[in-house]
Amino acid sequence: MATTSQSLQAGVAVTDITPPVGYRMCGYFNERLSTGVLNPLHAKALVLRQGDTRAALVFCDIIGISADVSQRARQQAQRETGIPPENILLAGTHSHTGPLYFDALRDYFHEKAVAQQGKDPYEVRDYPSELVAGIVKAVTQADARLRPVQAEAGVAQQQGLSFNRRFHMTDGTVRFNPGLLNPDIVRPAGPIDPGVGVVFFREANGRDTFASLVNFALHLDTTGGTLYAADYPYFIEQNLRGKFGKDFTLLFGTGTCGDINHFDVMTKDIRKPAVIGATLAGTIAAARAKAIAKPSLAVRRAVVEVPRQKFTAAEIAQAKKDMDKIATAEMSFLDQVRTYKIVDIQSRRGATIPLEVQVFRLSDEVAVVGLPGEVFVEHGLAIKKASPFPVTLVIELCQDDVAYVPTKKAFAEGSYETVNSRVAPGGGEMMTETAIRLLKELGT
Ligand SMILES: [Zn+2]
Repeated sequence: MATTSQSLQAGVAVTDITPPVGYRMCGYFNERLSTGVLNPLHAKALVLRQGDTRAALVFCDIIGISADVSQRARQQAQRETGIPPENILLAGTHSHTGPLYFDALRDYFHEKAVAQQGKDPYEVRDYPSELVAGIVKAVTQADARLRPVQAEAGVAQQQGLSFNRRFHMTDGTVRFNPGLLNPDIVRPAGPIDPGVGVVFFREANGRDTFASLVNFALHLDTTGGTLYAADYPYFIEQNLRGKFGKDFTLLFGTGTCGDINHFDVMTKDIRKPAVIGATLAGTIAAARAKAIAKPSLAVRRAVVEVPRQKFTAAEIAQAKKDMDKIATAEMSFLDQVRTYKIVDIQSRRGATIPLEVQVFRLSDEVAVVGLPGEVFVEHGLAIKKASPFPVTLVIELCQDDVAYVPTKKAFAEGSYETVNSRVAPGGGEMMTETAIRLLKELGT
């Protein structure tokens, strides 16, 4: 094939970002210490280049990327490679079996340990800096491996694995995760997104597939326990290696799954991550993908300032006092979440929250969108529907973890995700409109 400067080049590299055993784990509201490693956590970088345009997408097996880590890693990656920070997407896969390394809950546990013991015995190393180093190394190595590639993209359909977790109940309320076979369930309060967006990267010979970028909307909370694990994407990769070889890399960009998980409330069986991974791998391997014949790499980015939720001085003082009641029976679960949220939101300055939206165009048929936060599936579906690109991947938890980004409808209905959110109602719709605007700018 022609290897002109205008052909698409790609490079992939993987680094280990597993924290030390004994570090605090994320995902729930109690203090939980890791006791070992089920499978290692990775930072996986895909660097793309066409002509003078360069971009990097990095997927980390952690709950989310803190704004601080995002800023430091992107600046250092630019120093090492020259890729502009605005062309670098950093995503957390949202594994609930990784480290708790930022937010109000981490600060609370950390400060309590320091107050009681003079130091924090669970943070023996500076994990955020190790994470930054792991991301930068992955980008640098992937950049060094750039070579002409062939790419193919498509969207497969996956039914029966993902479920909307908010339900209308017989008492007129909307509840999240009401329990399997709960007789008071009337119907789901929202849709799912069965689309599995796939981009295969093959060597210039057109045969050897060395990586796939995959996008699917299903919460990565299928493992639990105290062993570090990358959750179900680990099993997707293991299964796909059976087809593509042991050096194959899965780049998993989590879809908009703020209100989506793996519980089928109509049954009493909970699917295991190995089954979810094997099923998705089968769907991905069978996906009908079309060659990207005319690549046209380009990146657009915008920062949307959305209003944040406001609390009175009295509410903030009370919440700070109530942090002691988290993970105890002294307070209801939703009140604990609200307490943590009010304290967490104080770490952000100003009346707005900056939401960074990125769009990467691969060709006039394929685009990738990066959004911050745990985004409701309705936002992702709206973006895909309005996108001029037949293959549009929408990846959440990029650049900053701003907690849940519900819809206006969900804010009116209430329940867990709206309590555990920082943006004011309407913020998600503003972000969605911006993503659609950028897609249309690049699509014409
Ligand atoms: Zn979550």
